[in-house]
Amino acid sequence: MNYGRVYNFSAGPAMMPEPVLEEIRDEMLNYRGSGMCVMEMSHRSAVYQQIIDEAEADLRDLMGIPDNYKVLFIQGGATLQFAAIPWNLMKNGKAVYIETGAWSKKAISEAKKYGEVIVAASSKDKNYSYIPDCSDLDIPEDTDYVYICENETIHGVTWQTLPNTKGHVLVSDQSSMFLSKPVDVSKYGLIYAGVQKNVGPAGMVVVIIREDLIREDLDPKMPIYMRYDTHANNGSMYNTPNCWAIYCCGKVFKYLKSIGGLEEMNRRNVEKAKVLYDFLDSSKMFHGTVEAADRSLMNVPFVTGSAELDAEVVKATKAAGYDNLKGHKSVGGLRASIYNAMPKEGVEALVDFLKKFEAEHK
Ligand SMILES: *Cc1c(COP(=O)(O)O)cnc(C)c1O
Repeated sequence: MNYGRVYNFSAGPAMMPEPVLEEIRDEMLNYRGSGMCVMEMSHRSAVYQQIIDEAEADLRDLMGIPDNYKVLFIQGGATLQFAAIPWNLMKNGKAVYIETGAWSKKAISEAKKYGEVIVAASSKDKNYSYIPDCSDLDIPEDTDYVYICENETIHGVTWQTLPNTKGHVLVSDQSSMFLSKPVDVSKYGLIYAGVQKNVGPAGMVVVIIREDLIREDLDPKMPIYMRYDTHANNGSMYNTPNCWAIYCCGKVFKYLKSIGGLEEMNRRNVEKAKVLYDFLDSSKMFHGTVEAADRSLMNVPFVTGSAELDAEVVKATKAAGYDNLKGHKSVGGLRASIYNAMPKEGVEALVDFLKKFEAEHK
């Protein structure tokens, strides 16, 4: 059905699968005979308990999350986790961070407020356009964890090979790649993701944490909401959770299962991103800003080389129904975010438009 929707290339909040939005619409006024909308429901009701239980079960199934990991639905976005991670995981007060762009920088500055941060590798020298070699880092024995941002939303770089943590706990911000491909959860101590990039509505983060990392001997000054044991011991319902986001995300989990899971999602994402990268590699006007080996399948920054021309392209694409292509101010140019819910047809249509633009502006 045509709702007059545009191809929305926003970095987040971003597109959701249309069949999911239709289902939500159909259940809006009366959720399955409950006589109310999910927004109006007590989080303590049996009907809501089933929604959150199913959401967790479907996510576990989708990602193959082992039994010794907890799944937590927490408010405060990914940003609150920049602080929560050091407060909860720093036992020795020391962590190694890899600096690959804007989001790892933010995480580093929050962690520094709490403990010692060792930036063991950085790609700052080339404006975060690549992932540094992390096969043999200098990691002190008493390091509590090694931290990465697995897909840098702003700079458009992604990790193909995880760092060699030399036996230390790996912590990963997967916000802008969550559920875009299969991952081996057992390689991580903690995975977290703000859901508004690749899954559902804003206002929630999913934290997947190995049980032995959930501590109770924490700084007594720590806000109770920031403690992972608070959420783990209360089924993510210590206080009122983001009921609506959990409900919508649950629908997306089911949708991903229905299309064949994360293998199939990854296959589609690879195919879709190739359309755009092939064009950028062949264009004389548009160029990708990231080293080919480290390119993100989700966020594709590109430039013409002229700020004026970039602005003209943004204006022209918006007028043609391709929205939110302006690059982040720290990189400039353009950025196409092509998350799970962006159909391949959307990328093909954008590429056709850019080709035409290039031909007309020789
Ligand atoms: C958007 C984003 C964040 C911040 O998410 P909020 O939910 O807005 O706090 C953190 N990390 C990455 C990689 C992001 O893309």
